[in-house]
Amino acid sequence: MLRTHTNGELRLTDINKTVTLTGWVQKNRRMGGMTFIDLRDRYGVTQLVFNQEINPGLCEEANHLGREFVLQIKGTVAERSNKNPNIATGDVEIIVSELHILNRSLTPPFTIEDDTDGGDELRMQYRYLDLRRNAVRANLELRHKMAFETRRFLDSEHFLEVETPVLIKSTPEGARDFVVPSRMNAGQFYALPQSPQTFKQLLMVSGFDRYFQIVKCFRDEDLRADRQPEFTQIDCEMSFVEQEDILRMFEGLAKHLFKTIKGIELADFPRMTFADAMKFYGSDKPDTRFEMRFVELMDTLKGHGFPVFDEAVYIGGICAKGAAAYTRKQLDALTDFVKRPQIGAKGLVYDGSVKSSVDKFYTQEILQKMKEKCGAEAGDLILIISGDNTNKARKQLCELRLEMGSQLGLRDKTKYSCLWVVDFPLLEWDEETARFYAMHHPFTSPKPEDIALLDSDAGKVRANAYDMVINGVEVGGGSIRIHDSALQKQMFQILGFTEEKAEEQFGFLMNAFKYGAPPHGGLAYVGSTVLCRFLPVWTLFAIALLSRKITRGAM
Ligand code: ASP
Repeated sequence: MLRTHTNGELRLTDINKTVTLTGWVQKNRRMGGMTFIDLRDRYGVTQLVFNQEINPGLCEEANHLGREFVLQIKGTVAERSNKNPNIATGDVEIIVSELHILNRSLTPPFTIEDDTDGGDELRMQYRYLDLRRNAVRANLELRHKMAFETRRFLDSEHFLEVETPVLIKSTPEGARDFVVPSRMNAGQFYALPQSPQTFKQLLMVSGFDRYFQIVKCFRDEDLRADRQPEFTQIDCEMSFVEQEDILRMFEGLAKHLFKTIKGIELADFPRMTFADAMKFYGSDKPDTRFEMRFVELMDTLKGHGFPVFDEAVYIGGICAKGAAAYTRKQLDALTDFVKRPQIGAKGLVYDGSVKSSVDKFYTQEILQKMKEKCGAEAGDLILIISGDNTNKARKQLCELRLEMGSQLGLRDKTKYSCLWVVDFPLLEWDEETARFYAMHHPFTSPKPEDIALLDSDAGKVRANAYDMVINGVEVGGGSIRIHDSALQKQMFQILGFTEEKAEEQFGFLMNAFKYGAPPHGGLAYVGSTVLCRFLPVWTLFAIALLSRKITRGAM
């Protein structure tokens, strides 16, 4: 090695040692006959000292070192008189006796500091320089730890890591495929996997019993803050399991990661049905760091002569604790918030001990009933949204709830609230194309007790599908799969595939199911790639346990 120690290593116990260090010039400053250089590498920063009086030639050379020059220095470890408690090596400095410039650097286009002066565009253009910054490097370190601990945990549970092909026939997850033209077969294309879904199911047919893979997936989707075309999953599958086994296993993984990486002991994850999540939070990924559950008010408020509510098919409220003192201006801002086109509400009704926009339409008795229903006390503010479409109105109320949660400081970033959302509908009806789509993917098993409804009322069928949700983010999801080729065939029919098309696209899987497919199920945690241009994430609870909505749907 060109060094004896790293820049994060030396302490008071190393005093008087002769050491050789390498690294980049973080800072170069002159102070009364002395030159100080902060030398940085992945491990930390160490202060180098050059003394004009003792070694004028070397000091002069040091004065000309620019930011990001690469150095090798030899010197003696000394105690610092002016200690820096903010860095691990802050008690010592190196009195330099030899200096070699290993490489020069142009002046970087932005400062390589935690608080950089570089904007997004510039940092992305020079991503290799951005990655020298602590915060970004820390993300990659966190990701490494996550991957390592994931492997450790899953290995201890007898999961085998298997690599699956990338140039493949389409594996649908509801997005568009990226395609790669085949040179050997002109006019034909490979697809890149949206996930290894069908492969892992085939591995179960092959008897692998427990599979995982930390795997790149590709989905050609429009970009959003939490979406990018390539991302990483922790993809898992198990045989001879029921839903409960999967939930327990992967709750175990999440707890292991929180504990080993963040030192946080998580309590058991509560379960919430999809129906309740929609009813109480208007979302299949509720942020349960705070309560503020929806209260349905149709019974109380409809039919008393207030036209907006009399025409509604849904009236729902939330109770914002302690917010009765909201000013007129704040209430108007909230009204504007829900009326933004992205949210699309027609208006907002409020009622607090100070102000009410409906007290002229209702008797005190009814208003009192409403307050009781909402659990409102003096000082609370009730916010109500109504509409002629229940789902839409609930989504609007969901946005309002999240906004109020933020405004009232209830979405504490240091708190983690985890849960499983279960019992998703199997299918979703799309008005525009007038057909059903798979809500998870077409291999998801209906609940056995609902199978009879497939022919008569398919929209009511619930799936053995589940999502893990943390702080309002869907971090993973999966399902128990169909392992019966006849049922799989029926599912393709419901999804509008002709027999030929199903055979052409999925014949390989349906055939495999004819050779003793075990009951199986799994899930994938979804994360993103830190090197990717679009989303330098992995900060919340990194690898998979961050962001990016699993695309539900099409097929
Ligand atoms: N393949 C699914 C996805 O990527 C996850 C699963 O069902 O295991 O969303």
